[in-house]
Amino acid sequence: MTQKKKIAVGIDLGTTYSVVAYMNDSGRPETIPNAEGDLLTPSLVLLDGNEAIVGKEAAKAMSTDLANIAESPKRQVGHRVYDKVIDGRRYPPEAFQAWIIKKVFHDAKAKVGSFENAVVTVPAYFDEVRRKSTQDAGYIAGLNVIDIINEPTSAAVAYGFKQGFLDESGSAVKKTTLLVYDLGGGTFDVTVMEINGKNFTTLATDGDYKLGGRDWDERIVDFVAEDFIRAYGVDPREYQDSLGRLLRDSQDAKETLSTRDKTTIACNCADKSHKTTLTRSQFEELTIDLVERTAFTTRETIKACNKKWQDIDHILIVGGSTRMPMIRQMLLDESGQEPNTSVSPDEAVAQGAAIRAGILLAEKSKRALQPKIKNVNSHSLGVVAKDVETGEPRTVIIIPRNTPLPVVGKRTFKTHRDSQESILVQIVEGESAAPQHCSQVGSCSIWDIPENMPVGTPIEVSFGYQENGRLQITVQVGNHNPFKQEIQRPNSMTQEQLDSWRGYISADSQSN
Ligand code: ADP
Ligand code: MG
Repeated sequence: MTQKKKIAVGIDLGTTYSVVAYMNDSGRPETIPNAEGDLLTPSLVLLDGNEAIVGKEAAKAMSTDLANIAESPKRQVGHRVYDKVIDGRRYPPEAFQAWIIKKVFHDAKAKVGSFENAVVTVPAYFDEVRRKSTQDAGYIAGLNVIDIINEPTSAAVAYGFKQGFLDESGSAVKKTTLLVYDLGGGTFDVTVMEINGKNFTTLATDGDYKLGGRDWDERIVDFVAEDFIRAYGVDPREYQDSLGRLLRDSQDAKETLSTRDKTTIACNCADKSHKTTLTRSQFEELTIDLVERTAFTTRETIKACNKKWQDIDHILIVGGSTRMPMIRQMLLDESGQEPNTSVSPDEAVAQGAAIRAGILLAEKSKRALQPKIKNVNSHSLGVVAKDVETGEPRTVIIIPRNTPLPVVGKRTFKTHRDSQESILVQIVEGESAAPQHCSQVGSCSIWDIPENMPVGTPIEVSFGYQENGRLQITVQVGNHNPFKQEIQRPNSMTQEQLDSWRGYISADSQSN
């Protein structure tokens, strides 16, 4: 098949499920089913000898082969290695993410034809290190990541498209303030956005990257386990196989309770078997604090952009966990309005990314008609300085969080002595005054200081956040020409490591 037209593809690389969408021939975003015929691919990798099995097949092995499965590797993106040793080996999270990308990339090509470029989405609160890591995973998988966009922005774009804001007539649509509430399997993300004609502007964003559907599942696991202990004095959570099964059944029970009032969970352990009944209202009581945690973050995010619930025109719900009636009820109680369900909570993110890819790949002449996306940074960017009074290291913020992107923040450092050869700048992201509680982006050693500079020579360092949240550093000494500076990243892979993984992963049997 020869295909000249570039196919616009978006990939939602989710913690629990990954989804791919493209712009179809009629110019609308459409989700692409995987080789198994499903729209969602479980983000799981089973390492079986030299082969990596991704998705449903890996999920089936959960109760028998858990030791060889990397579950939700996205949760560990930004770490140097994935915390589970598989077959005696430690892997970087990027490798697992790359295996997932490779699977969905390969399946999508089989359905829509060959392509190399795609937009990949990340949670809005992903820091710079995690964004770089996501881009690197794409590289390892042989995919050209043309942009990284935030999941809530992507969902809002899909919503805007559906509402017709993006048609040529769309520019007349009045300004809308949108709250995107995204509760997935392992993460929670909330964003306030403004859609004004074709302009999509993020006003504030926050999230809890350790809160998601899985926490609801675990409450059911505990409930059933306690019931089992009362019956037999045995804790099924202490048996790997029972726990694996119980987790899956608890997730099923949770999903059932979204449409039914009552369900039964069977638990088998140590040759004993027991059935536990759970009603929806019991389940809601067991998890009320989790719902409240999301409500709290949502209120704080609205406050962060000086708005009130009354200012929110629509609430867009995204992520599989928003199917739980307790979430919709909480949002209704808080806001007084029903959440909007016009876009599919599973597909909105991937479809928005496909629309974005379409914009980037469109001919220049057509771009003027396309939506404009404005993001903010989700974490404050700072450098480590010494406190003059205490001598302790502390964070000096250069670009506060929720600043519209792109933005450049500057700071002037001074040489401490005559003819100083280098300056070390440590870069962190986060809100804490104590640098050790912030995320370590890396450091930047400035070696190009001209010779014989007197003590106190100013060195201006510019920190530029690009629109996709990636960071660029430029240094200027006196009135010499500014130069770009590389960041040394302790938690990122080097180009050599990336190339070596790229070779390794493309060599296994799934490649085409
Ligand atoms: P992620 O963005 O983390 O990849 P998703 O948005 O796909 O995740 O959401 C996955 C989560 O949604 C899982 O925890 C799953 O159990 C949950 N989920 C899916 N359908 C339902 C349902 N009908 N009721 C409750 N939870 C659901
Ligand atoms: Mg998601």
